[in-house]
Amino acid sequence: METPEGSRRRVMVRRHLAARGIRDQRVLSAMGLVPREEFVPADMAESAYDDGPLLIGWGQTISQPYIVALAVEALSIGRDDLVLDVGTGSGYAAAVMSQLASRVVSVERIPALAAAAARRLGRLGYDNVEVVCGDGSIGWPESAPYDAVCVSAAGPGVPSQLIDQLSEGGRLVMPTEGPTGQVLISGIRRRDEFERREIAAVRFVPLLGAGGYDPPAGWDGF
Ligand code: SAH
Repeated sequence: METPEGSRRRVMVRRHLAARGIRDQRVLSAMGLVPREEFVPADMAESAYDDGPLLIGWGQTISQPYIVALAVEALSIGRDDLVLDVGTGSGYAAAVMSQLASRVVSVERIPALAAAAARRLGRLGYDNVEVVCGDGSIGWPESAPYDAVCVSAAGPGVPSQLIDQLSEGGRLVMPTEGPTGQVLISGIRRRDEFERREIAAVRFVPLLGAGGYDPPAGWDGF
């Protein structure tokens, strides 16, 4: 028997993803498997499959399902790939990518969010995701190079450190500030070139840190 969440998830995949042009079957089935209701605060579980972002605490959000699917599809993640996820937040995007990749390293700058996401992912059995706490705007050099880098916070541009940590042929997706608002950029590293294109107009929280914007005054962390 299908659970109510399972049925909402199936509708989400059909109506919010497939009907809007997400074609990659591996991405659609990963989005159909990850229980999004586990990644939102308990009092918002009812809204887990709505077509929008939701607040997850500390002023941060879990992205709209369509935008997660669009970003993950653009990353063309293969089974043997190592993925860097910048901005763990709830851990939802990391969980989706863990279904497609060999391993995901996910960086979050807010210690409480990193700890909660690590606990949640462990409890749900996503054991190929490693959550680390730090400034992911400069990547995570310890595990580089990455086949795919997914950034879910918007910066003024793509930090050069993130491009440097891509393998040859590696893909990166990141929202950046453009002249008329934020755009989601998708790029691929070919030798010393980074070929980029714009895939959608978006709205993300800011990427704070050395490769992004300055943290608010009084912040004593990363
Ligand atoms: N992928 C997340 C969405 C998170 S929103 C999900 O599926 O739930 C963006 C996250 O990026 C926030 O949690 C924010 O704290 C984090 N963030 C912002 N700047 C960062 C940085 N320099 N390094 C790591 N995380 C950062």
